[in-house]
Amino acid sequence: MLLYLLLGFWLAFTVYCFWFFFMAKTLQPLTWDNLALTWRLHKQQTGCTASRVHSLLTRNDEVVGFKCWCGYEFSQRRLITQRVLKPRVSKTPLSLKVAMTLEEKR
Ligand SMILES: [Zn+2]
Repeated sequence: MLLYLLLGFWLAFTVYCFWFFFMAKTLQPLTWDNLALTWRLHKQQTGCTASRVHSLLTRNDEVVGFKCWCGYEFSQRRLITQRVLKPRVSKTPLSLKVAMTLEEKR
């Protein structure tokens, strides 16, 4: 019985870690250049004829995506593990920092 519990726990933990590193994504601010480029690409790929963007998706006063008149929605997402890390001097050991990040996300 205990063995099954333990196995279940480890399975859940493994799946969670996998999700955290490979699936969890955050919204990233989009520059106007990027926005224009992405929209042009969308029009090219889908044959969309909209002459302008329907609305902009914002979060924390930053543009993170757009919505087209055709219903297409784009938001810039990046894997958490791909986030650009600012070089920062810290006395916290890396393993502890990772554990703290995991706690915050729970
Ligand atoms: Zn469109």
